[in-house]
Amino acid sequence: MMRQYELVERVRKYNPNVDEDLLNRAYVYAMKAHGAQKRASGDPYFSHPLEVAAILTDLKLDDATIVAAVLHDTIEDTSTTREEIDRLFGAQIGKLVDGLTKIDKLDLVSKQARQGENFRKLLLAVAEDVRVLLVKLADRLHNMRTLHFVPIEKRTRIAQETLDIYAPLAGRIGMQRLREELEGLAFRHLSPEAYQTIEERLHDLRAKNGRIIKRIEEELTTEFAERGIEAAVTGRQKTPYSVWRKMERKSVSFEQLSDIFGFRIIVGEVEDCYRALGVAHTKWPSVPGRFKDYISTPKQNDYRSLHTTVIGPGHQRVELQIRTAQMHEIARFGIAAHALYKDATGKEGREDLAKESRAYRWLQETLDLLAHGDSPEEFLEHTRLELFQDQVFCFTPKGGLIALPRGATPIDFAYAVHTKLGNSAVGAKINGRVAPMLSHLQNGDEVEIIRAEGHIPPAAWEAAVATGKARAAIRRATREAVRKQYAGLGRQIVERAFARANRAYADEKLKGVLPRLARNSVDDVLAAVGRGEIYSGDVVKAVYPDFSEERKTAQIGAGPGEPGWFDVKANTNLVFKVPGSNEGSAIPIRGLRGDVPVRFAEKGGAVPGDRIVGILTPGEGITIYPIQSPSLTNFDDQPDRWLDVRWDLDEESREFFPARLVVMAVNEPGALGALATVIGETGANIDNIAFTAHSPDFREMTIDLEVADLKHLSGIVSRLRASALVSKVERVIG
Ligand code: MN
Repeated sequence: MMRQYELVERVRKYNPNVDEDLLNRAYVYAMKAHGAQKRASGDPYFSHPLEVAAILTDLKLDDATIVAAVLHDTIEDTSTTREEIDRLFGAQIGKLVDGLTKIDKLDLVSKQARQGENFRKLLLAVAEDVRVLLVKLADRLHNMRTLHFVPIEKRTRIAQETLDIYAPLAGRIGMQRLREELEGLAFRHLSPEAYQTIEERLHDLRAKNGRIIKRIEEELTTEFAERGIEAAVTGRQKTPYSVWRKMERKSVSFEQLSDIFGFRIIVGEVEDCYRALGVAHTKWPSVPGRFKDYISTPKQNDYRSLHTTVIGPGHQRVELQIRTAQMHEIARFGIAAHALYKDATGKEGREDLAKESRAYRWLQETLDLLAHGDSPEEFLEHTRLELFQDQVFCFTPKGGLIALPRGATPIDFAYAVHTKLGNSAVGAKINGRVAPMLSHLQNGDEVEIIRAEGHIPPAAWEAAVATGKARAAIRRATREAVRKQYAGLGRQIVERAFARANRAYADEKLKGVLPRLARNSVDDVLAAVGRGEIYSGDVVKAVYPDFSEERKTAQIGAGPGEPGWFDVKANTNLVFKVPGSNEGSAIPIRGLRGDVPVRFAEKGGAVPGDRIVGILTPGEGITIYPIQSPSLTNFDDQPDRWLDVRWDLDEESREFFPARLVVMAVNEPGALGALATVIGETGANIDNIAFTAHSPDFREMTIDLEVADLKHLSGIVSRLRASALVSKVERVIG
C-alpha cells in the first residue's frame, strides 16, 4: 500500500507547490474512516482510494482532485458526512466527493440502464465538475483492474457497464489511453474466448511482422532525418478490442482485416506534421479517402493529429498518425493534459484552479461539448437546446433511463414511457415518495407512475407539461373525453325527445338509420346532437318517418314562459369545455338550435363577461351560473356535473341577458322615475321592479334588467351609484 510520503512525492514531482498538509490530512482521515474494511481481494479497503489517487497523479491532476480521490468512498461507505468533509477539507473538495457519491448512488439503479449515450449524459449532468468525472474514471479503472476478485455474477454487469458507459466517456473527454485500458479489461471479462483468440492471432502476427514494424519505423525515421525532420516513430498493433469491434462492425474475418498496424509519428512543431506527411506520401502510395486533417479541424474533444493510411512494404495497409508532442499528450490524457498545459502558462495559482483559471473554464467548456455527437459537423447541427444542461435523466422503477427536457414533470415521464401510461396516470412517486404530478423532475430521480384505468388526463395538464409528446397525447385524450361528454349529453336530449314524441328509443333503432343522418355510429349521432349539430327532432324523424313535430320552430329550454328558463337565441354560442381546460382547448357548441336546454340560474344569472360554469342536470339540461355564485356549493360533491363554459357571442347581435340588482334609493317622489331614466339611458331594459323593504326615508328594491354584457351592467351600477338618489347598489347573483 502506498505510504503517506509516497503520495506526496508523486504529486510533488509535477507540482512543487503541493499542499503537503492537505494530502497528509486526507490520507490519515480516509485511512481511519475505512478502518478495517476489506476489499474483495482481501486487501485493506483503503488501498483502493490510494490506487485511484495514484492513477490521477499519473494524469498530473491538482491537489483537490487527488484529495477527492483519497476521500471518494468515505461518504458512501463510512459514517463520514458531506458536512464533515466540508469542515475538514473545504467546500470545494466536499463538492467533489459529494458528486462522486451521487454517481455511486446512480450506479445502484443502473442495472438495466443500457442506453449508454443517455447514461453518459446523465453522468455529465450529475458530475457538474469535470474533476468528479476524472476521479470516477480512475475509480472504475482500478475496479476493472481488480475485477477478477469480484464474485463472477457481478463481474459481467460491471464489465458491460464499463464498455457501454465509462470507456466511451473516457474517449469522449479525449483520454484514449484510459479508454483503451477500460475496453481491454471489459472485453476480456465479457468475451474471454474472443479475447483469447484475437490476442493469440495478434501475437502470431507480432512475431511474423515484428520485423515489418521495426523496418517501417527505421525507414521512416531515416527518411525524416534526411529531410531534417526530427521525429519519434513508434509502431504498434491495434488492441484486441478495436480489432474485435472492426470485425463486428464490418463483419469481416480476422484475415480480411488489413490495417491492424498503426504508427505514431511525433514531431516538434506543427509545420513538421505536414512535412512528415509529405515524406510518407512520397515514400509509399496513400490509400484514397483515408487522409484526415484533425490539426486544422480538431475533434471536439480537442484531439489534433494528421491521419493517413499508406500501403507499406509487404503491401500491408498501415495507418499513420502524425502529431506534435503536445498534441500527443492531449490525445493520451485529454482534458487532464490540457489543464496542465494551460495551468503551466497561466498566472493563477493552483488554489484558483477550481473556478478562476482558464484551464478550469476550458474543462467546463469541453464538458459542454461532450454532450454532442462525434464530428464537428454534428456539433454544428445540434442546437444549444440539446445540451445536457437542458435535460434531466430519470429512471423507471426497473432501471430504464428516460431522458426528458428540463422542467419535465411526472406526466411527461409517464407519456415518455408509453402513451397508455400517461393517459391512465393519476399520481406519481418520486424516489419512493408520493409527489405532485406537476413536480419538476431532477437528474437521477426514480419515478413510479400510479395509474387508474378509465382515467382521463385533466386538460389543464396540457399547459403544464414540457414535452410535445405529452401535450399532443393529452389533447387527443381530452378531445375524446369531450366527445364522450357531448355524446352523453346528446343521449339525454335524444331520449327526452323520443319520450316527448311518445316513441320508443333504442340504440339498435338508431343504428338502422345512420346513413339517413350521415353519421358512422350511434355515438357520432349522439355527440352531434350534444354539440347541437343535429336537431333531436330530426333523429326521431329518421327513426319514425311518420313523426311530425308540433312545434316547427327550434326552441331552447323548457319553453317560453316557463319560470326560470331563458330563451337562448340561435346566435348565442356557448363553448363547453371539460373541467380544468384552458381557453385555447375549448370546443364551441355552435348554433344552439333548440336542442340543448340551456338556462341561466334564477335570481341573478350570468351575463357575458362573467366567468361561468354550466351544471348539467340529467334529463333537464344545463344551467349557467356565474363562477362566484353561492349556489354552486350545492354541486361541490358532484364534479361530473360541472361543465366549463365560456361565452362566444356573435358580435353582430345585440342580444340581452338577465341580471338582477338590489338598489336602495331615497323615498321621494320622482325618484323611481329618475332611476328608470338613468337605466334607460344606458340602453338596458327593465323587466321588473319589486320593492323588498320600506322605511320612511328609503326604499329597497330588486330590479330585473336585461343587459348586453358585464361591462354594460357595471356601467349601470356605476351610474346608479353616482346618483344622489341612491345609497346602495349591489348585483345579485343566484
Ligand atoms: Mn471507489
